[in-house]
Amino acid sequence: MSRSWNALSLRVLAGEPLGRADALNILSAPDDELLALVDAAFSVRQVFFGRDVNLHVLCNAKSGACGEDCAFCSQSAVATSDISRYPMKRVEEIVAGAREAHRLGAVKYCTVISGRSPSARDMETICEALRRIKAEMKMHLCVSVGLLTDRLAAELKEAGADRINHNLETSRRFFPRICTTHRYEDRVETVVRAKAAGLEICCGGLVGMGETEEDRVDLALALRELGVHSIPVNFLDPRAGTPLAGLSRLSPRDCLRTLVMFRMTNPATDIRAAGGREANLGALQVLALYVANSIFTQGYLTTPGQGYPEDLAMIESAGFRVGRIEA
Ligand code: SF4
Repeated sequence: MSRSWNALSLRVLAGEPLGRADALNILSAPDDELLALVDAAFSVRQVFFGRDVNLHVLCNAKSGACGEDCAFCSQSAVATSDISRYPMKRVEEIVAGAREAHRLGAVKYCTVISGRSPSARDMETICEALRRIKAEMKMHLCVSVGLLTDRLAAELKEAGADRINHNLETSRRFFPRICTTHRYEDRVETVVRAKAAGLEICCGGLVGMGETEEDRVDLALALRELGVHSIPVNFLDPRAGTPLAGLSRLSPRDCLRTLVMFRMTNPATDIRAAGGREANLGALQVLALYVANSIFTQGYLTTPGQGYPEDLAMIESAGFRVGRIEA
């Protein structure tokens, strides 16, 4: 049976876009074939990314008090989670975070704010931070600030943003089950606007929210259709105080199958084993590196990760290396 996964990777490498049936087969592959599946994905990953693991560092520049109702999010209007809530950080704090990310060898520093879309004051702070970081160090800059107009996207680009993050989160069909204060289409429109402004697109989603395997495949195919540059695959680590608090985590094997499906449907795209990596993949975490080519290090928006030293040890122990920005 492993030969069929190998055949699938050869088809993908030959440029055949993976169809829905093949994508669903990956998600329902038996545990006995898990290593063969990972091996097939690794052969694709290696062609496009070698053994590099790109490190991304997040800066949660404004936390909590969001008016939206995303069911998974501890910063939402409906969450009662015990998190740190604070207004916009000062420019100096955001720049200091970039210096630390640069010191760790991160290729991307992503400044994130909670909320539906940025206020004029938010934009002032973020754009000033972008300008100062760009002038001081060589690092790709990403921002995740919510829904964008054409003008906001152009301002971010002008200030030095290389990329925006704006996740679709899940399929069009399942989206109304996790958010009612904005629409899936609003998210797609922001992605399209940012792309038109010349920004790279980081756009992915979250699995383990009660969606079906079809929903996961729909998300992967929608992202391929949008031509995104980077796909963060987040795994729900249910947060106390959110509407999804009662859900169980996915199994580590399901997380790996999901990553393989994203790799095979979007072979040349940066795929990130993103939020919830440590909590969901557990002892199988290192196997994610054979499929995904990037991770967040130094934690997430409201939760800590295992930490940079452990991430580095994991990368090196498996014979991978930290990716660097091209000179
Ligand atoms: S818009 Fe962003 S910060 Fe607000 S609830 Fe949704 S995911 Fe959380």
